Amino acid sequence: MLQIHHISKQYRTGDFSQNALNDVSLNLRDNEFVAILGPSGSGKTTLLNIIGGLDRYDSGDLVINGTSTRQYKDRDWDSYRNHTIGFVFQSYNLIPHQSVISNVELALTISGVPRSQRRQRARKALEEVGLGQHIDKLPNQLSGGQMQRVAIARALVNNPSIVLADEPTGALDSQTSVQIMDLLKEVAKDRLVVMVTHNPELAREYATRIVELRDGSIVSDSDSLAVSKESAQTAQHRNFGHASMSLVTSLALSFNNLKTKKARTFLTSFAGSIGIIGIALILAVSNGVNRYIDKVQEDTMTAYPISIQEQSFDLNKIIGSAQDNTQNTQDHKGSHRSKAIYPDDSAISSASSLASSISSNNLSSFKRYLDDPKSDIHQYVGHVGIQYSYNTKFSVFDRDPKGTLVSASSVTIGGQETGAAAQMASAGANSSDPSQMESRQMAAITGKSQTKSSPQSFTEIMPGKDEQKTPIGQVIKDNYQLLQGSWPQNKEQVVLVLDADNKIPLVTLYNLGLKPASEYNDMMAKLNNGQEVKADTSALDYDQAMKQTLDLIPAADQYIKGDDGHYHYVGDDAGQVAKLLDKAVHLNIVGIVKPVAKASATPLPAGIGYSRQLTNYLIDYASKSPVVSDQEQHQDESILTGLKFAAADDSAKASQAKSFVATLNNAQKAAMGSAVMGGGQQGAHAVPSAGEAGSGSAMQSSDEQAAAQAFDQYIATANQDQLVAIYEQYVRPQVGSYKDNLASFGLVSRQAPTSIRIYADSFEAKQSITDSINQYNDRVVKADKITYTDYVGLMMSSVTTIINVVSGVLIAFVSVSLLVSSIMIGIITYISVLERTKEIGILRAMGASKRNISQVFNAETGIIGLLSGILGVGISWLLLIPGNAIIHALMATEDVNAILPIQAAIVLVILSIVLTLLGGLLPSKKAAKQDPATALRTE
Ligand code: ADP
Ligand code: MG
Repeated sequence: MLQIHHISKQYRTGDFSQNALNDVSLNLRDNEFVAILGPSGSGKTTLLNIIGGLDRYDSGDLVINGTSTRQYKDRDWDSYRNHTIGFVFQSYNLIPHQSVISNVELALTISGVPRSQRRQRARKALEEVGLGQHIDKLPNQLSGGQMQRVAIARALVNNPSIVLADEPTGALDSQTSVQIMDLLKEVAKDRLVVMVTHNPELAREYATRIVELRDGSIVSDSDSLAVSKESAQTAQHRNFGHASMSLVTSLALSFNNLKTKKARTFLTSFAGSIGIIGIALILAVSNGVNRYIDKVQEDTMTAYPISIQEQSFDLNKIIGSAQDNTQNTQDHKGSHRSKAIYPDDSAISSASSLASSISSNNLSSFKRYLDDPKSDIHQYVGHVGIQYSYNTKFSVFDRDPKGTLVSASSVTIGGQETGAAAQMASAGANSSDPSQMESRQMAAITGKSQTKSSPQSFTEIMPGKDEQKTPIGQVIKDNYQLLQGSWPQNKEQVVLVLDADNKIPLVTLYNLGLKPASEYNDMMAKLNNGQEVKADTSALDYDQAMKQTLDLIPAADQYIKGDDGHYHYVGDDAGQVAKLLDKAVHLNIVGIVKPVAKASATPLPAGIGYSRQLTNYLIDYASKSPVVSDQEQHQDESILTGLKFAAADDSAKASQAKSFVATLNNAQKAAMGSAVMGGGQQGAHAVPSAGEAGSGSAMQSSDEQAAAQAFDQYIATANQDQLVAIYEQYVRPQVGSYKDNLASFGLVSRQAPTSIRIYADSFEAKQSITDSINQYNDRVVKADKITYTDYVGLMMSSVTTIINVVSGVLIAFVSVSLLVSSIMIGIITYISVLERTKEIGILRAMGASKRNISQVFNAETGIIGLLSGILGVGISWLLLIPGNAIIHALMATEDVNAILPIQAAIVLVILSIVLTLLGGLLPSKKAAKQDPATALRTE
C-alpha cells in the first residue's frame, strides 16, 4: 500500500513561488487502476513524480508498504525507482539511438542483470505488448502507438509493483488510445497503476478509481481508502536493495551509444584529435630536431674531445692576448701626443704571451683524479669515455719490393730529409686530430723535435671504454669501414688505413716498403737539385698490401752495449738493424680500412693503425728491458756517455768535457773543432748528439783526420776555464737527464700518459667537464694545475645558447597546444552532455543513480578520448610522411627526421583519455546533478 500523507510541494522561480501541491493526502491500494484528472497546471505530473520518487516533497511523508521515505537518501530513491516503479510518459521518452530491445533492457541494465537474462526478459515484455517483431528497430521507425507500447514494455520489464503513466494517450489518436488503455487495464490486473489524463471518458471507462486535482489539492476521490492514523506514524525507515551498474556495463552502454552515432562519434573524436595531432607533430619535430642536435653534439664532441697534453699551450690565452693587442692599438691610436719616440712593444708582448702560455701538465696527478671513481667528472663523461695516450717508442722496418731494408720513419735508415724533400716528407702527415696538430705545433715552438720517436704514420686505434672487452672502440667501428680483412685482434695485427678517397700519402707507401725505396731516393735527389719530379701514382692491390710484414723494434732494443761499456743507439745503422730483425715483433696487415662516407670523426690518419695490445706490450717490454734496468742502477750517470748527469764542480766539468770529446769520431771532432777553435757561431746544432756517436756511416777523409787531430791537441792543452766553457756549451746539452734517458729507452709509466682525451656526449656535458676540471684546478697546488685548449668552446660558444632557445621554444609550443586541445576536448564533452539531458532524465527515471550517470558519461568521454588519441596519433604518423619530405627539402639535409616515438604515442593516447575525462568531468558531474524531473521536462 502506498500512502501519501499531507504532501506539499512548492516551486520557486526567483521571487515567485508556485504551490504545485497543497497538503495532498491519498492512500493507494496495491492493486487498482487510479486515474488522476484535472486541468493543466493542477499538479498532476508533480504528484506522479513524487509518487515515483523522481521529485521530492517539501513536507509530509510518502509511506511505501509501511516504510517512511522521509530519511531516504539518493540511492534509496534510485533503488525504489528501479525495483518498484515503472514509468510511462506522454512523449514516450525512448532513447532514440538505442534499438527497441535495448531501450526495454535499460532498466535491467541499470540494476546489473546479466546480459542473456536481460535479452530474454526484454523480448518477453515486448511480446506481451505485441511488438515481438520489432525488437531490432530504432524508436523513430515505429508509430506513436507502437512507441508507447515499447515504453509500457520498458516500464514492465522489471516487474514493478507500481506503474505510473503520465498522459500516456495524450499524443495518440482515439483508436490507438483505446489499444493503449486496454493494455494498461491488462497491466493493472495484478498491480497498482496510476494514470494521469485529462480525458474523463477514457478514465471513467477504464479506471477503477478517479481522483480529481485542482490547484494542487484533491477535490474528489471516487473510491477513497481510509487508513488509521497510527499506521502512518508507525512507518519505519528501511533500505531497499541497491540498484547497481558495473563499469563494464557503463562502458558497454556508452560503447553501444557511440556505435549508434558513428558519424557523430567520429567527428567528435576528430575534433578532439586535432589537439593531439598538434602536440604529436610538434613533439615529433622537436624530437627530430633534438635528436639531430644531440647527434651533432655527440659527433662534434667525438671529433673534438677535451684533449690535455703533457706539454700544452693555451690557445684561448693566445687568441685573447692577440685580441687585446688589437684592442690596445685601436684604443691608443693617437694617444701619444707629445713629441717623443715611443717603442712599439706589441711583437714582444705577443711573443711573451705565447711563451708564457706554454705550460706542462702534471698528467699523473690528474690521472689519479680521473681514476678515482668518486670524482664528479665521471657523471659527465660520454659513451666513448676517457682515453689515455702513452708515448711508446719504437721503430719499424720492412723490406721494399726490391728487398731493400726500409725504415718506416725515414725510408732510408738513419736518413734525414732536408730542403724540398723534407717538405714532401712532412706533407705526409695529414691529421684532423687537433691534439696531434697541437703536439706538432708544440714541437715547432719549443724547438724540441721528436727525433727517434715512433713513425708518424703509426697511430694507435682507440679502444672502447673497457679495452679488454672492446679493443676496437665503437667510434672507430662507426666511422671506419673494413674494405678487406678484419680489425686487429692482438698486438701483431695492424690495419692499413686509407683516406676517404682510398688514398694514402706516397711517402707512407715508401715508408711501409710498398713501393721501392730506390724510387724515393731518386726523387729526393732530384728535388734537392731543383729538378722537376714526377711521382709514380699507379695503384696498389689490397692483397699486395696485406702481404707486407712490418718488423717493429722497441726503442729499448735499439740501444746496444758497446765495448766501451756504454750503450749506443743502433737504430740508424742498417747493418745492426738487420741483426735485430729476428727479435722484432712481426706486424701483419690484417685489414684495410677507410672512413665511412659521413664519418663524424676520423681519429685515424692514413697509415697504419695498431691495437692497444701493442701499446701495452711495448710499455711492459720497456720496463723489463736491460737498458732500462742498467740505467736505473746508475741514477747519476748516463749509460750512453758515462757522463755524470750533474757535474759537481769546474774540475769535474773539465774532465767531463775531455771524456765527451774522447767518445767522438773524427768527423764529429772536426765539426766540433771548427766550431770551438774557429770561434764560429754554428752552435750546438753542428755537433752530433752523443747518442749517435759511433755511427759507422760517417765519412772519413784525410782533411777530417787532420782537423780531428788538431782538435784533440787543443783539448789536451786547454785550460780548465776553456774546458768548462766547452762543457757548458756543448756537453751539458748532450748529457741530458736521467728522465730523458729513460724516456729515450721507451720507458713509459702507466701513471703518466702523454695525453688524455675526455669525450663528452653533449656541449652541456662538456661544459660540466670543463667546470669539474676548473674545480680540480682550484683544489690542487699550482704545479698540478691543468691547462688545455677548449677547441669546441672556441668554435661553439654560442651554439649551446641557440640550442637552449630552440628547445625552450619547442617546449612552449607543446604546452600551448596541450592547453588548447584540453580546452577543446572539454567544450566538446560539455556540448555532448547538454545534448543528452533528456536521456539523463530517462536513465534517472529508470533508477540510475547519480554515480551511474557520471559513470556512463565518463565511460563515453573515455572512449572518445581513446578514439581521439588513436586517431590523432594515426593521423600524425601519416602526416609525418609528407612532413619529413618537406623538412628534408627545406633544410636540405636528411639528418633531421621528425619521429613520433612509440612511447610518446602511447603517452599521447593516455593523455588524450585523461584530458577528455578531465574535460568531461565537470559536465558529467553537472549531468549527474541534474534534477531528473526537470531533465524529463526539457524537450
Ligand atoms: P499538470 O501536470 O497538472 O499540468 P504540473 O504538475 O506539471 O501540472 O505543474 C503544477 C504547477 O507547478 C504548474 O503551475 C507549473 O507551472 C508548476 N511547475 C511544475 N514544474 C515546475 C518547475 N520545475 N519549476 C517551476 N514551476 C513548476
Ligand atoms: Mg502534466
